[in-house]
Amino acid sequence: MVLPARIRVGGLYPLPAAHAPVTPATVETVAGLLRRHRGRVLALTGAGVSVPSGIPDYRGPRGTYRVHGGYRPILHHELVSQHASRQRYWARSFFGIRPAFRAEPNAAHRAFARLEASGHLAGLITQNVDGLHTQAGSQRVLELHGTLRRVACLGCGHTSDRDRFQLRLEALNPRWARFSAEMARAGEEPARRPDGDVDLPPELRYEDFRYPMCTRCHTGHYMPTVVFFGGNVADAVRAQSLDMVDQAQSLLVCGTSLATFSTFRLVKHAHDAGKEVLIASFGQTRGDPYATAKLDVLAEELLPLVAQELDR
Ligand SMILES: [Zn+2]
Repeated sequence: MVLPARIRVGGLYPLPAAHAPVTPATVETVAGLLRRHRGRVLALTGAGVSVPSGIPDYRGPRGTYRVHGGYRPILHHELVSQHASRQRYWARSFFGIRPAFRAEPNAAHRAFARLEASGHLAGLITQNVDGLHTQAGSQRVLELHGTLRRVACLGCGHTSDRDRFQLRLEALNPRWARFSAEMARAGEEPARRPDGDVDLPPELRYEDFRYPMCTRCHTGHYMPTVVFFGGNVADAVRAQSLDMVDQAQSLLVCGTSLATFSTFRLVKHAHDAGKEVLIASFGQTRGDPYATAKLDVLAEELLPLVAQELDR
């Protein structure tokens, strides 16, 4: 299987052409860690875990993302300060959110939930903003970069569900809603151009897209409750993530190249405290020099076998 290359913040880690097969030895490496540190293993997950659920990553906040031609993510400061950036963001999101909400947890998400339920995993920190870990049944989940399932007012902090916000976008943009409904009826998704924009019929223009102001303060703009490129993880969330690492005996890193500083820091912190760090991720990661063991495998192939092994 050949996947597109990934870019990391500040550098490039091309993915190898093929991943390593999961062997009884690789399963035992992970199962052994979970047995040794039963209930004290903290998982750290990233985009690679949600790829089999079909989550397109152009919406991704900080961190790795697939490179589509000239695609460039919308930056935090642009979204905060520029009307045109907000129009573009919400217009893209108007189409992108539906497949994201339809996405189902995959075998890796389910295995994480099972490992927590069986008392092996202490909890989970994820960079993913899709909510799929919670949907799969994981209980102790810290969403380091937030969630796309809610929006919050930049002015007063009022929050709303993203699906209710979608209804308001539809009401404000009836022609867009009609186009979207027609595509859905035909069982299609609008084509996406290499820059991440949706290929629109000529009567729809990004400059015309409308988005609502805050229903409480009436002056603030809503933003998805995620950390964008150029944004920062909230202090309380950062403190909680470090606390979770402190309480753990070891770290199990899956499906991330640790490109973001917020996750790389956790691995470095665990390593410096003498904890075991097992990285099960396809391709080179920024945390490799700090790993006790590194497995070049796919999480959805590895973890169900690990959970099965530990259930025996
Ligand atoms: Zn407000």
